[in-house]
Amino acid sequence: MGVMYKQSELSSADDLSIGGGSGNDLAGNVLLTKVEAVVNWGRKFSLFQYPFVTACCGMEFMAVNAPQHDIARYGCEVPRFTPRQADLLMVVGTVTHKNAPVLKRIYEQMAEPKWVIAFGACASTGGFYDNYATVPGIDHIIPVDVYIPGCPPRPEQIQDAIQLLMDKIQGGRAELV
Ligand code: SF4
Repeated sequence: MGVMYKQSELSSADDLSIGGGSGNDLAGNVLLTKVEAVVNWGRKFSLFQYPFVTACCGMEFMAVNAPQHDIARYGCEVPRFTPRQADLLMVVGTVTHKNAPVLKRIYEQMAEPKWVIAFGACASTGGFYDNYATVPGIDHIIPVDVYIPGCPPRPEQIQDAIQLLMDKIQGGRAELV
């Protein structure tokens, strides 16, 4: 399969080989890549997010979706309101033991492959809530791919988290924390 592809988008030099022609003139040549690299490239630029918004971090979530910060450029601006149509679960805000089963069920309803971002200190660790009601981090309930610190996080941190996740989807170049 021949695919036009920017080399900067590939996870490694092994993903690309160039056949025919000579020098730097690629016009009319064929670029070969792995199907897996193309599929991952498509996946990382077409994330359908499901926002699980419970608390004040929701204001930052709305800000980062608005035109000034514009996550449409990463292809993940469209929220889905059924988990069956989403592959990126954004857990935004405090999660209590009372709504933890709801979060777990939503995660289980999402089709594979799926990814999770813990948005803000509360979702990542429970934040400053050290009490009997609050889950001390959603990774006690579901697996998490990227944690975003901050109370609330800045929009730039959210953009950075999305790019870390895109790197992970493409091939695991980034060291995720
Ligand atoms: S991290 Fe801060 S801003 Fe976000 S939900 Fe918790 S208390 Fe609210």
